[in-house]
Parts: sequence; structure tokens; C-alpha cells
Amino acid sequence: MKERTWLPGWTVERRAFDPAHTAKTESIYAQGNGYINVRCAEDERYVGQTRGTFATLTFNKALPDEVTELPNLPDVTAIDLTVNGERFSLDRGTYRDYLSRFDIRTGEVERSCVWTSPAGDAVRIRSRRMVSLAQKHVVAATLEIEALSGPVRLMVESGIDARMTSSGSQHLHDGEKRLIDGRILRMATRTSESRVPIAIHCEHSFSADPARALPVMQRRRFVMRYTFDLEPGVPLSMDKISCYHTGRDRSFASAERLGGIKDSARVLQVGDACITSVSSMGYEGLFEASRAAWERYWAHADVEIESDDPFDQLGMRFALYHLNIMIDRGEPRAGIGAKGMTGEGYKGHSFWDTEIFLLPYYALTDPAAARALLVYRYLSLPGAYAKAQENGYEGAMFPWESAWLDDGETTPLFGAADIVTGESIPILTGVLEHHITADIAWGVYLYHAVTGDEEFMDRYGCELMVECARFWASRVEWKPEARRYEITNVIGPDEYKEHVDNNAFTNYLAAFTLTHAADIIDAMPKRWPDACEQLSRRYNLHELAAKFRERAGGMYLPGPREDGLVPQNDQYLDLAEVDLSKYRSEAGVSSIFEDYGWEEANKVMVSKQADLVMLLRVMPDLFEPEVAKRNFVFYEGRCLHDSSLSHGQHGILAAWFGLEDMALDMYRHAVRVDFGENPTSSDEGIHSASMGNVWQCAACGFAGLMWEHGELSFANHLPGTWKRLAFEMSWQGSRLRVTVEPDAMTVEHLSGAPVSFTIDGRAFSVSHEEPQARCVCGAGDAA
Ligand code: BGC
Ligand code: BGC
Repeated sequence: MKERTWLPGWTVERRAFDPAHTAKTESIYAQGNGYINVRCAEDERYVGQTRGTFATLTFNKALPDEVTELPNLPDVTAIDLTVNGERFSLDRGTYRDYLSRFDIRTGEVERSCVWTSPAGDAVRIRSRRMVSLAQKHVVAATLEIEALSGPVRLMVESGIDARMTSSGSQHLHDGEKRLIDGRILRMATRTSESRVPIAIHCEHSFSADPARALPVMQRRRFVMRYTFDLEPGVPLSMDKISCYHTGRDRSFASAERLGGIKDSARVLQVGDACITSVSSMGYEGLFEASRAAWERYWAHADVEIESDDPFDQLGMRFALYHLNIMIDRGEPRAGIGAKGMTGEGYKGHSFWDTEIFLLPYYALTDPAAARALLVYRYLSLPGAYAKAQENGYEGAMFPWESAWLDDGETTPLFGAADIVTGESIPILTGVLEHHITADIAWGVYLYHAVTGDEEFMDRYGCELMVECARFWASRVEWKPEARRYEITNVIGPDEYKEHVDNNAFTNYLAAFTLTHAADIIDAMPKRWPDACEQLSRRYNLHELAAKFRERAGGMYLPGPREDGLVPQNDQYLDLAEVDLSKYRSEAGVSSIFEDYGWEEANKVMVSKQADLVMLLRVMPDLFEPEVAKRNFVFYEGRCLHDSSLSHGQHGILAAWFGLEDMALDMYRHAVRVDFGENPTSSDEGIHSASMGNVWQCAACGFAGLMWEHGELSFANHLPGTWKRLAFEMSWQGSRLRVTVEPDAMTVEHLSGAPVSFTIDGRAFSVSHEEPQARCVCGAGDAA
């Protein structure tokens, strides 16, 4: 097996195997390419292991009373070894020299150890596994086994295991199995309700011929059983190459046929051709192609950090790794799951996480990927119209949780146990968390401001904005006594407060959507004529704009009270204050529910996550800086950060407010949501939004990157212990490289049209001719 170089700043090593906490390891070192993602389970089996393989777009409802989810597909990662009749497992016999390495740079996992069986036979086992970034259908593994203490009879059982469930629910038919040419294992199955055909192919090759090779075809399982006689000094190597194809693959889809095809035979045909061509490349060939694809990614995506703690850099790269594998770039029929495709948590559903936490990253680094994410919302409009209608509203009421395009609302109805009532707590987010429809509008605004993509606006953006605004125009409630529009009975970002009135985040973003949509309508005839023509057929746009302005103008927008506090909602500031120190210092989230029932927690001044703070983040110039800071400090003090979305956004604001230590602390917390010490924090998958937060903390926080009103600006908020932060970004079709140092900030022009911006309030521009602008921060002159 080839020796590899392992670079500091890119590699995570574990020298001990921890059988008790395999689930977190499986999630955080998950491998993939956004089309197919695989949890990083050990080859052999352990109690508590949760193998997982997910392919984008394969949503299915296991039973009529369950919500649709991304199914856990048949597995190809399991490889069972038997040495002289003893099953290889690290919790049997003894082992030494254990080393597991995860290479963030290539997405490869390597593992090695020397194992001595209970009967005393010693073998060295080394394995590597990858999901190809270059050939998106491919999962590959290579294994090397060497007898150390004497000859051994080795049995290898490996193939396709479809005895997988999603937490017990079965999504797939048993399907049809076939051995092709005595070598290729093939399984053809389909999802039970959405009827998506799925083909899995798998082929093994060895450095020596097996003494025996037997196909084992069972219910939901198809493997080969190989037997070898190993002599010491002659290692055996094996490549296992597999590929997955589904009827929803991009190659089968068209604008008229978004759902792809139901014809299994065609999917199998494509799979048959794929396995033959990829298995001929062997593991090394496949790895090389994938490594090169990763190298191309890192050439532009890397964010360099020089600080007193190398973990700051490693954590950033870990986030950038996940930001690359959570998305099938350019696929407009898929959103990003709240846990990517690294586990069953949140069922593969997309939330506001996409627009608020992830879209800034994609819009500012890979606009085409960002565009596809918004087109996904556009293509999901049918579900949003249906939800609005069911609830008596107009326009598009986007689901809190989204899955397949026309699924509409997919939020489950019941959740965790209530310590007081003993019952399952009803989940009201799908019914009451309405701000998602404004978050998507904000996403359209952000994308357009950052990219200047007029064609997107013409085809999708204007319509999305108008339909979101139509929802809000029908959703707001006129209160004659107060002579204003209000929005009552919602859940804001802070999900520990249900049935609240006038949630500031919701009201301001609803008003923003209405005003912005009205402005867009005004500009449409000249700027976006196609959209204008389309929408004029449906609506009297002039009247619609007037209605939007009337609603926005009459909307109650809570401002600062005399004490400077902006109420998070009508109820919050009157709630009882309680001592939260115990819950704020507790390692695990949700510890407050060990003492409080759900209803009780609703009645005290405690927040799950940033709420008003989110408003300050998405509308940075809403209040005077002192007012914003006063509110930030007040609300942070009442926040448990029980959502993984919280720390990172606080980090951005802390940087803006000059709260340097806190900003860095929040960045490090955001990194540790998944990458930290808590052994169970990510069992059901990583937290996608938190990965976006890590990038946002650095770019938007420490480098002060803003796009308000379509104008680019930076500010130097580099933490005192950091020497350098450098990253590439896109701005309206141009590429820039930004470097922040303690006393200076440099912006280099890499390609595209000239770009103007400010640094710490001072104006600069860069272009092909003047490729660099340097601002000496804090003092001195610009050069
Ligand atoms: C989340 C909600 C979500 C619900 C069901 C909760 O943990 O906070 O946003 O809708 O789970 O998925
Ligand atoms: C948070 C939501 C978030 C969801 C998915 C929940 O815990 O409260 O804001 O959208 O997780 O990440």
C-alpha cells in the first residue's frame, strides 16, 4: 500500500479506538461529494455503530404517518474478516499500533493496527476509504492484510448490505440481486413510496487469487465470501469499488421531468457501464483523480489562519471540508440538509440554515452553487403555495422543513419527552415558525447584492420575492386599536418561546420583504422585463406594490425602549428572570429541560439561540451601534446557545462590537460544535449551519465583510492572538483575495471587472491595472 504524506494543519489522528463513541466519529469524518455521502464507520461491526449512506434527492416516506426523509441506503462499507475462524474486531483479542488518520485535504480515511486474535494469531490490517470527488457515484476502499505470527486462513465477507434502516424504518424494497461475470455484485431496488429506482454495484479485486469465492445472496444482503491462505511476509491487498445510481440523477432529469425516471432498467444500464470503467482504475487511480479534484477545490477555498492555537486553522479547514461535501454544487433540485448527508438527524431536511447561515458562504465564494440553492426554493414554490392555501394565506408560505420539491411542509409533529408531562412534546415549528419565508427573501436579496446576477432575478428572483411578499401581505394582522399591522402567534428564531406576538426578527424581516418586493416591482419593467411580463399576466403589479408598501409602512417594528432594549417579542421582557448559570456552564445542550417542563421554560427569560441578535446580524445598520451592543450583551446573557446555530452568529457581532476575546471564544465554540471534545455532540450528523458560521465568523466577523445595499466593505477585527487571516472571495463576477493582519488589510484583484470597496470606512478600488489595495488599519495612511 502506498505511503502518504500527512501535513500538519490538515490531518486528524487518533491513536486509540473508542468503541463507546463511534457515532460522533462516523459523522464528523463522513466522506462524500454531496451526491453520495457515507458515514465513517469502521469496516467491522460494533454495538452503537450507525452506518449511513445517503444519496441526494432520494426522499421517501417509509409509512403514511411518517414524514418524508432521506433514506439510509444499502451499505458497502462493511467488510467482515475472519482469521483462523476468529472474527476480527477490536473488542476481541488484543490490538496495538492503532492509528486512524483523516486527511481533510483529500477526504481520505486511513486506519491501521496489529490485531492478535483470542487464539493468538497476529495480523497487520491497513485500510483506506474514500468517496470520490471526481467521480460522484463512486465509493472505494482498499485493504491490506498481512499474517505476522504464522500462516493464517483468512475469510473476507464483503458486498452490499441492504439490511439498513432509518432508525428502524425501512425505505427500500428488497430488490433484485445479480452476479455479473462472476465478479460484479449488483443490487437493484427502489424507494417504497417515491418509487425512485436505485442501483448499487460493487466489485472486488485482490493481489492474489482466493482459494475459494462464493456468492452469498440473502434477503436484503448480497456479499461474496472469499477464502485465502496467507503466509507471513506476503501481504494480501484488496480493492473494493462500488457505485450508486438513482433515477433522480441529473443525467435523467430535465425541466419537464424534475423527478427523473422510474425505469430501473435504464438506471442499471448506466451503473453497469460505470462500475466497469471505474473498477479498472483501481483504488489508487480513483484516489488520484479525487485528490486532484480536492486540490482544485482547496486552491480557491482555503482560508489561511495564523494564530497562537493551530486548532483555529484546523477547525476552519474542517468546516470548509464539510461545506464542500454537504452540497451537490449546481443541483437545483436539492437543498442542504441541516446535518448535510452525514446522518439521519433532521431527516435530510433543509431549514433557514441554508439562507442565513450557509448562503453567505456560497454566494461569496461560488455564486453558481448559491444560485442553485435559491433555484431549489423557486422549484419548491408549489409546496409553498399549498402551505399558504391550507393556512388561508396568499403567495408562498415556505415550509419550515423542506425535502423534495413538492412535498411542502415536512416538519415532524412530535419530539422529545417532557420531564413534567411525560408526553412527547408537540413540535410547533412547522405550524408557527413563519420567518423562513422572509429568510428566503433575504437570501434572494443577499445573492443579488453579492453577485449582481440580473438573469437570476429575471428568471427566479423577482418571482420568489413577490410571492414571499404576497404571503406577508396576507399574513400581517391589522389591529384597529393600535392602528398598525402586527404578526401574532409565531415562533421566532428562539424556539424556546412559542406563541409569541411581534417577534422583532419576524416583523422586521417581513417588512423588509414587503418593501424590497415593492422596489423590485418598480424596477422590473426596465431591469427584469421577462419577470415583469410573466408576473403582469398574473397580477396588477402596480396595485401589488402599493399594497406591499402600505403593509410595510403600517407594520409594528419594535424599537428600543427607554432602557435601550428592543423587545425580542411582546412577552419576553416581562418574563421571570431565572439564574441560568447552571445551564450556561453545562457541557450538554438542553440541560434546562432536566429541571423545567417545556411550558415552564416558555415562561422564563431564557433563549435557546440568537433571536434579536440574529436581527442585528442580518440588518447591521438598523440601530445605533450603542443600542445594538446593549441589546447584544443583554440577550447573550439570557441565551443558552442550545442551538448549534447560535455561537457563530454571536461571534460575528462580538467582532463588530470590538468584544475581541468574546468573538474569538465564540469562533472556537462554533468550531467545537462538531469538532470539539463532546463525545456525543454529532451522533446524528454534523451541523451544517455551524460550518457556515465558522466561515462567517472569520470573513464577516474578523474581516468585517459586508454587502449592505450592494456595497462591499471590510473592517479589521482580527483577534489579538491572530497574525494573519487570508481568503479568496467573489464579488459581482470578480475574484478577490483578502488578507487581514494586525495592522493592515490587503485586497488583491485576481480576475474580473474593477471592484470598489471600503476598509474601515476608507474608499479603495482594485482592478487589473491596480491589482492591490492596502489599508494600514488603526493609524497611518493607505498605500
Ligand atoms: C428543531 C426544530 C425542528 C424540530 C423537528 C427541533 O429540534 O429545533 O427546528 O423543526 O426539531 O425537526
Ligand atoms: C434550531 C433551528 C435550526 C434547526 C436545524 C434547531 O435546533 O433551533 O434554528 O433551523 O435546529 O439546524
